[in-house]
Formats: sequence, structure tokens, C-alpha cells
Amino acid sequence: MNAAAQNFSKTYREARDRFLQAARAAGGRVNHHEHPLRGPEGEVLATDVARIGPEDAPFILALGSGTHGVEGYCGSGVQTALLAEGFADGLPDDTGLVLIHGINPYGFAWNRRVNEDNVDLNRNFVDHAKPHPENPGYEELAEAINPRDLSPETMAESRAHMRAYAERHGHRAMQHALSAGQYTHPNGVQFGGLEPVWSNRTLRMILREEMAKARRVVFIDIHSGLGACGEGEIICTEPETSETYKRMRRWWGARVRSTVSGDSISSNVPGSITVCLAEELQGREVTPMGLEFGTVPIAEVTMALQADNWLHQNGGPDNPKAKEIAKTIRDAFYIDADDWKEKVTAQTRDVCRAALKGLHE
Ligand SMILES: [Zn+2]
Repeated sequence: MNAAAQNFSKTYREARDRFLQAARAAGGRVNHHEHPLRGPEGEVLATDVARIGPEDAPFILALGSGTHGVEGYCGSGVQTALLAEGFADGLPDDTGLVLIHGINPYGFAWNRRVNEDNVDLNRNFVDHAKPHPENPGYEELAEAINPRDLSPETMAESRAHMRAYAERHGHRAMQHALSAGQYTHPNGVQFGGLEPVWSNRTLRMILREEMAKARRVVFIDIHSGLGACGEGEIICTEPETSETYKRMRRWWGARVRSTVSGDSISSNVPGSITVCLAEELQGREVTPMGLEFGTVPIAEVTMALQADNWLHQNGGPDNPKAKEIAKTIRDAFYIDADDWKEKVTAQTRDVCRAALKGLHE
């Protein structure tokens, strides 16, 4: 087993222990934000923050994991691997490294992409006082996206409906319908929530606590499940004409893609984490990105999400199929192979090094 792969875990509990141990060994200051619920083994759930470097650092490099729960297997492993290999030793004196572990700890521990409220956290940062964004494509496809059972016949029917929609409206519109969030079906796939959820409130608190004194912030939110296996894409949620996009291209090159131009593997989604960074860190230069690593083909990811949602609507962990479906979900968002783990760690390391250079340009 190679060095990086040793830092990836098989459960949330193991991931959390390893992360905290590596953070302390690296000389980090550690904070815990405990979640009100427990994990499948009765374990404490928390968003943990490790901070290395001066408290009043003008520059911050932040690295987040588990915004989409189960995707934390990837992000947590990378965070712990970077700590263990001594990445923090090379930090400039004026820079703080802030690692936020398990932003959606419930989803991570229970092998779900969503949180305890069935909410996709990365669609939850909208202004809930205003009318919620509409997604007419989702409404049209709601039955196909959320199949009533998982029989081969029903799943084939679901795929046929989605294929027909893509033929009528194009692949991009299909992806938007499926992944850009919805605010009308609380029990359905891709629900964005009707109020700020626990992880939303907690992340805002962490940003205020850790970054109030910073002038320039890079925030790398690690995701998995989209793109070619093991390949990372840097996702920018601003248009190509924006200063942020131009800065990102300068720092990281052609790997940066904008969701607004339609160039990215990700749809242009409302209510992503980027929104809360802009809101909480006003007056500072913030460079936010999703760093997305590919796992399995998108059709498999979609089917895993459908199965997970079916389970949620049919007894959750008490359903006899719960274990099997949890594994399906984990396997869709995480490749348990050394070369994949090494690849995603190496790419994140490169992105972080380039970020440190960029912060000092
Ligand atoms: Zn994600």
C-alpha cells in the first residue's frame, strides 16, 4: 500500500479518528462542532476543524470535505494524507491552513449524499426568505427521477423517460433537471431544503471564527462522483468574464471550468457553498472552488442516488436492503483502490501548492 492510501478510511468514525490524530500530530489547533444526532454505531457526529499557522494570518488556504456526506471518504482521506505527509510544514509564515472535516457528518456516517433532512447541502445556501428557485425539468421528470420501486422494469422505464427528455431538450437540460436542485419534493432526490440546515449554519460559524482576520482566502471543497475516474476538475461557479474565474485560470490553468458557461462537468446550481463564502467573507478576496474527482460512469451514480432515495422513503436503515444500498452509494462516490487514492491526493496537493503561490502573487 502506498503512503497516501493508508490515510483513507472505511467508516466515518475511522475517518474522523485518523483526521484528528493527524491534525494533532501536525501541531494543529482542533475545534469540534458536535451534531445533534449520532452515527450508525452510536458514535458522535461532528464537523471538526483543524487549524495550522498563525491565528491572525492574512492568507488562508481552506480545504473542506464531506459537503456531500458520503463523498467525505474521498475528501477526508485527502485531508488526512496531506497532514500526514507534512504538507503544513511548507506553509509560509503569513498563511493559515484550515481543514474542515465532515461538513455534512450525518450523510458521511450514514453513507448518504444528503443530510439528516434529506437535503443536498450544496443547494441549501439560497435566500430562503425569497421564492425558491424553480426546476421545471425536475417537475416533469419527478416520477422517473424518484422511481416507486427498484425492480429492473421500473428502473428501465425511468431510464427511458430520462433518455426521451434528453432527446427532446438536450443532454445539458437533462443534467440540469436531474442535478440543479429542487425545492418542491422534500422526500425526493436533489432537495435543497426550505431553511438553512445544521451544516449550513455550522459552516457559516466556522468561516466567521476562522477567517475573520484574513484578507485573501482560497476555499477548496473536495467532491467526488463526476467526471472521468480519478481525474480532478476545478469548478468555478462564476462566469468566465469574472475576476474570480480569470484569477483561477491564472493560478490553475485549463483545469478550471465555469458552471455558468456550461463548460464544467457540473450544472450551474443555485445555493452552493460559494454563496455562503461570499456572504460571510465580504470585503475579502475569496477564491472558492469545488475540486471534483471522477469515480464511476454517471449512469451508475444516478442509479445509486435513486436507490438511496428509495431507501430513505422505505424505512431507511431498518429496511433489509439498507446495507446493500449503502455499499452501492459508497462505491459510486469512492473508489477503494490505492492508485485512485494516490491520484486524487497528488492532484489536491498540486492544487494546494499552486494556491499558496497564487495567494502570494
Ligand atoms: Zn459533491
